[in-house]
This record gives sequence, C-alpha cells and structure tokens, in this order.
Amino acid sequence: MKKKREKERIKLILDRGGVKRHIFLPSNIEIWSVVGEEGDYLVNDKPLFCTCKDFYYLCLIKKRKKMCYHLKALLLAKKRKDYITYYFTDEEIEIFSKFVFNSLK
Ligand SMILES: [Zn+2]
Repeated sequence: MKKKREKERIKLILDRGGVKRHIFLPSNIEIWSVVGEEGDYLVNDKPLFCTCKDFYYLCLIKKRKKMCYHLKALLLAKKRKDYITYYFTDEEIEIFSKFVFNSLK
C-alpha cells in the first residue's frame, strides 16, 4: 500500500465527514471519534490521546511526535467546526463503547 502524505490523509478525513462528536445526555459527556483509513479511533484533545497504534508507539513510547494524523484531523475539524454531532442518552454509553471498541483495530 502506498503511503499517503499526512496532509492528504487529514483532508480525506474532513472531506468524508470523518470527525464525529458523540454527546450523551443528560450528562453531557462528549466523546470524539475519527474515521481513519484503517478504522475508527477514539480521540481526545485534552489531554491528547488516540487509540491508534501510531499514537501509542510514536507519541507515547518513542515520543517522536506529539500527534498522529487522527488528532491533527480532530483539531482542524474543531477549528473549522467541521464535524458531525450525534446525540445519545446516557443509557447508551455502554452500547456505544462496545460498538467502538469492537471496531478498533
Ligand atoms: Zn491516531
């Protein structure tokens, strides 16, 4: 597989509406996810966190960079307000997290 440049990957995510905000009511818990090329990842900007392997190895373990491209896409989408918001009830958190963790690769 040809490696795409990071900027192109970020643009692709935003073009596809791949940054998603999930809000659970009434608690107002906010969970963000980014649909990358390899699957869905949970992301968080404060503190910076992503569930992908790149983030784990390059950012946490080797400390070679601060962010993976999912996080860059998240920050850009927030800046542009270019994301999709989904509303759930608090009772759905458990179902949601099961669904998300099953889609992690
Ligand atoms: Zn990532």
